[in-house]
Amino acid sequence: MTDAAHILEPVRRIAAERPIWIWGAGNQGRGIGSVLRKQGIELSGFVDQAAERLASQVMGLPVRLPAAVLDAAPPQPRPFVIIASWFFEAEIADRLQAAGFVESEDFIGYARLKPVDYSVDIVGVCNLKCLACPRASRAPGPGKQGLMPLATFRAVLDKILTESPFVGNLQLYQWGEPVLHPQLPEIIEYARERGVLCAISSNLNADADYARIVAARPEWLRISASGWGDDYEIAHTRGHWPRFIAHLREVARLRRALHPSMKIELYYHLYRHSLGEGLERFRELCEELGLELRPIPAYLISLDDVLGYCEGRSLPEPARQAAERLVVSLDDGLAAAYQQRHLACDVLRCVNINWDTSVSQCMLYYDSADNSVAPNYLDVSLEQIQARRHRAELCRRCSRFGLHRYCASYAQMAPNSGVSAP
Ligand code: SF4
Repeated sequence: MTDAAHILEPVRRIAAERPIWIWGAGNQGRGIGSVLRKQGIELSGFVDQAAERLASQVMGLPVRLPAAVLDAAPPQPRPFVIIASWFFEAEIADRLQAAGFVESEDFIGYARLKPVDYSVDIVGVCNLKCLACPRASRAPGPGKQGLMPLATFRAVLDKILTESPFVGNLQLYQWGEPVLHPQLPEIIEYARERGVLCAISSNLNADADYARIVAARPEWLRISASGWGDDYEIAHTRGHWPRFIAHLREVARLRRALHPSMKIELYYHLYRHSLGEGLERFRELCEELGLELRPIPAYLISLDDVLGYCEGRSLPEPARQAAERLVVSLDDGLAAAYQQRHLACDVLRCVNINWDTSVSQCMLYYDSADNSVAPNYLDVSLEQIQARRHRAELCRRCSRFGLHRYCASYAQMAPNSGVSAP
């Protein structure tokens, strides 16, 4: 019996007496919802800070603001909450505790049900060279560039579900552009057949068959942008604004026609050049198209260059150019991360499988040097992978500077408005 199976039975008993809500209607929350449903556990719905901007129903269940659980008062039974948020679990737990909820009795984090997350980077190439991305300044990451064949993806997913039966969602990207994979629809469909919901992220600059992709029903789509008009192409280097905006409108139309509950998040990178009018124009456009705008201070990613900077090396030229444009400087971001260095690394929960089936030590690093724990995911057990990862020298160097909290720190700076960043 897995650890998760031990917690499932108490959740099943609770469900017979109290309403169960999932806090977080994104990819993680939907994945947990899908798994609980497969187990015959009824849910009351989702709560989400962004409920007003999301579809009113997700997986046929209502989406409400947090007050729906925080303000529930007798004679109603107290709701039981499963927190399904990667970056904001601690804040949500604080809000629940302030409202009198007790951990384990009244709420748990989703990791109790699903201790391991997975990312399968099905595409080892990208069409752009964004300034803050390692693809602008580094040779291609693990292995040479390529695509994961459909048959390999099936074998990978089958192994994931054998070793981690409570996985209900999967991220199909890390450093690659998934819409470049001609069999992306078949990959999404196979995952759905196995009860797994897929998240993809795209720059929407490729002339892909978006109708077939949306019809395959990915559950969650993140679209990245960083400026309006000519400004868009500054950091989305090699991007083409007219093509992007045409694809954005097309995808919004396809969602309305084919898959209305698909979450689309416009992940808007705040640089100095993309604040102000650019942000406002995107706010209006997202309103018009029914998309969720998520502004976030831009930051350098991968961590290869950031760790190098912490250890006294210079940034490569594209990263240096990106750093000059940041709204929250690299030094400020590092200081915020350092403040949180005592917290555990959430990234260790996520196993990143590259397109060539090699397994990364850490999904936040791009180079393969010091960052590979297995050449072939299919030949090594999950226990072996995690044992190797927990002993890695890279983690010791990284956590010394608090870099395991670097992305979370930036995400926490301007969660919704994009205007509170220093
Ligand atoms: S400690 Fe750093 S290198 Fe290790 S998994 Fe966490 S973020 Fe990655």
